[in-house]
Amino acid sequence: MDDCIFCKIVKGELKSWKVYEDDFTYAFFDINPISEYHTLVIPKKHYENIFDITENDFLHLSKTMKKITNMYNKKLGMKNIQIICNSGSEAQQDVFHIHFHIIPRHKGDNQDIKWTTHKEWQENFDKLLEKLS
Ligand code: AMP
Ligand code: ZN
Repeated sequence: MDDCIFCKIVKGELKSWKVYEDDFTYAFFDINPISEYHTLVIPKKHYENIFDITENDFLHLSKTMKKITNMYNKKLGMKNIQIICNSGSEAQQDVFHIHFHIIPRHKGDNQDIKWTTHKEWQENFDKLLEKLS
């Protein structure tokens, strides 16, 4: 935690461009933005990712994301936003202090998330569900 860059941002030890702050959460611009207003939302308390954050702090994050997206909608007229949380290195998490990316999108922004889909995997769905019971 001592060398966590997002903890340093919360403590004011590292410069950030703050969008919003309350007792539990902090939101700031991503320094490698995909689009204008690309924002990261984090809990002030250090958690690695989705697996160790408490339900309560997760709720705080959700509320903050709703506030920020409402603000971007009202003040900037945004109507297209992607929200992404990478949890785990194999899920492309690079900074291990949980964060949600709020990524405004618009026509002609030259960004395109493309998934490789496998419709044929539907035949395994029943087996997959069995493992959960
Ligand atoms: P992820 O790959 O989901 O872990 O994303 C980490 C994000 O943190 C990347 O988009 C980085 O550009 C961003 N980032 C890393 N360091 C900083 C920083 N000091 N201030 C703002 N954003 C940062
Ligand atoms: Zn941290």
